Amino acid sequence: MALGTPSVMPGGDPAIGRLVRVAAPTFSFEFFPPKTERGNELLWQAIRELEPLHPSFVSVTYGAGGSTRGRTVEITERIATETTLTPMAHLTAVNHSVAELRNLVGRLAEAGVRNLLALRGDPPGDPMGEWVRHPQGVDYAADLVRLIREAGDFSVGVAAFPYRHPRSPDVASDTEYFIDKCRAGADFAITQMFFDADDYFRLRDRVAAAGCDVPILAGIMPVTRMSTVERSEQMSGAPFPPALAAEFERVADDPEAVRQLGVEQASRLCERLLAGGAPGIHFYTLNRSTATREVWHNLALPTVAAGG
Ligand code: FAD
Repeated sequence: MALGTPSVMPGGDPAIGRLVRVAAPTFSFEFFPPKTERGNELLWQAIRELEPLHPSFVSVTYGAGGSTRGRTVEITERIATETTLTPMAHLTAVNHSVAELRNLVGRLAEAGVRNLLALRGDPPGDPMGEWVRHPQGVDYAADLVRLIREAGDFSVGVAAFPYRHPRSPDVASDTEYFIDKCRAGADFAITQMFFDADDYFRLRDRVAAAGCDVPILAGIMPVTRMSTVERSEQMSGAPFPPALAAEFERVADDPEAVRQLGVEQASRLCERLLAGGAPGIHFYTLNRSTATREVWHNLALPTVAAGG
């Protein structure tokens, strides 16, 4: 499925799909385009603080509502030109015609961005609201993968859901549609955040059992505050594991203890994932570097970078 992807893309960036296969485990960081000048300063501070860790790549999300969408292209372009990092841009099908999507993919290619994460996206406002396709747009991420593949040399990733996507009626159809995206040309995947390693291993094993060998990177967000525990189901579609929630409840009144436990828990989770053969860890940073750096140090990931 990765056969159409060269190992180095036009412009010189490595193709993430290949990198994951030859230099696993990879580790990577995700950022979002901020809405304010102060947010922008924090983003660039985090990027500069994480750059010396030499991640395999970094990614920039695509705003759901529209206001920050142009910023995804600007930020990935700036990362490509002003840092040593390999950027990946997220792209969604929300409120875009096929012509607009082709145009965006072209702009990203001109900016030197050849690694893309193809997503359907959620309806703006209410993520569980009715999905309405743009009249000249596409319905599913698989269609966007095909569109990007047709546009030229790109390495294309897609989303995976350890617990299943909240809209999927059951795990079997979720797996089937995930494999559709891979057959459409995706050469790697990144999971939604999760807190139970077994959910990841079950996803990986059912995808492999269906004959699909696309590498699935584990998406990890260290808990830094109680609201993450409380909002876990809303954010990830999966309930927060009760035993782990009880550990957080015991220190709920002490924000620093919550943060420390979050870093410890994320480190334990990553260790289990890597020991179980996960091909990479993708950190949801929320544009902050501290917790991610602490987990990274706990994992002694410099060895991974040197080996990669
Ligand atoms: P799809 O794969 O199209 O799936 C959507 C739903 O349709 C699923 O329930 C699926 O099972 C079902 N389905 C798929 N194909 C078919 C078919 N042929 N027939 C019937 N049903 C089908 N959102 C953003 O807005 N911006 C971002 O930058 C962003 N980044 C993300 C990064 C990661 C790593 C992840 C995991 C999610 C991200 N999201 C982002 C959220 C994502 O857009 C939503 O979760 C969205 O609801 C699903 O996107 P998808 O690409 O998985 O969609």
